[in-house]
Amino acid sequence: MKLNGRVAYVTGASRGIGSATAQELSRRGATVGLIARNGSDLDEVKSRLSLNSAAAVADVSDRDELNGAIDDLTDAIGPPDILVNNAGIGAYAAMLEESAETFERLMRVNYLGTVYATLAVLPGMAERRRGHIVNVASVAGRLGAPFEAAYSGSKFAVVGLSESLSAEMAPFGVEVSLVNTGPVATGFTDARGVPFQRKIPRPQKPSRIADAVLHAIESGRFEQTIPRWLRLGIVTRAVAPGLYRRGLIRDSAAESAELVQRTEEPAE
Ligand code: NAP
Repeated sequence: MKLNGRVAYVTGASRGIGSATAQELSRRGATVGLIARNGSDLDEVKSRLSLNSAAAVADVSDRDELNGAIDDLTDAIGPPDILVNNAGIGAYAAMLEESAETFERLMRVNYLGTVYATLAVLPGMAERRRGHIVNVASVAGRLGAPFEAAYSGSKFAVVGLSESLSAEMAPFGVEVSLVNTGPVATGFTDARGVPFQRKIPRPQKPSRIADAVLHAIESGRFEQTIPRWLRLGIVTRAVAPGLYRRGLIRDSAAESAELVQRTEEPAE
């Protein structure tokens, strides 16, 4: 799909990847509708876009609030040709030390937020026989990340949904894409409370992910992994699962050993 003259809604557009994607869509001639919880951050992003852009405040995990924001954007700039489901949060902890509430919160924001926004725009796209939905997932949605079970689970759900929907909607001319990203230099890991500390993979610029989102829309490509070499892990897991799992256990051995030690410490 060409971008010029299209209407695109972006969730999680107040900063990071969503803000970079909104700016690039606007620069390429799309009219952009922004959604996130922080209204003043949204206004700041909007001030850098074309004049016909719009913003609406909503928590994507609140279906009524999100539907209201999508209605407001539709009134302001028309129904979307493109939806970028990008809003998301992380969490980093061993499941032994994680609460049920964190699992619920991540599913509500990362998975159900994607479901609610998609349900709101899909009937219109089907009727118009045109649309593109891009889901910003994660490499952790293709490869289970140790100490990120809540996050990985929520992103695996997004990957499964995307694969199902891409086949279902093909006869309607509605395309679905996945952008699986590795670490990106945004406030994401700070927001989850545990900064990214590994040397590799090197965090990508948010603009790199925005480019991938635009590429998905323009080329119709179903799936991209960024950086590309992380696909090696996905392929290894598929063709040599035992080898992959041994590597995964080895890779997280030091952190797992610390966890064992913590569980063996006498309770105070
Ligand atoms: P970020 O800088 O923390 O931005 C997250 C965005 O999501 C913000 O605009 C935030 O806005 C919005 N958001 C969070 N919770 C929301 C909610 N309940 N309702 C509505 N909006 C909400 O993170 P990012 O790196 O740009 O992440 C964007 C996407 O990339 C996420 O889906 C994330 O899982 C994925 N990803 C990121 C990384 C990474 O290393 N950064 C790696 C893999 C995948 P408000 O706070 O204003 O609501």
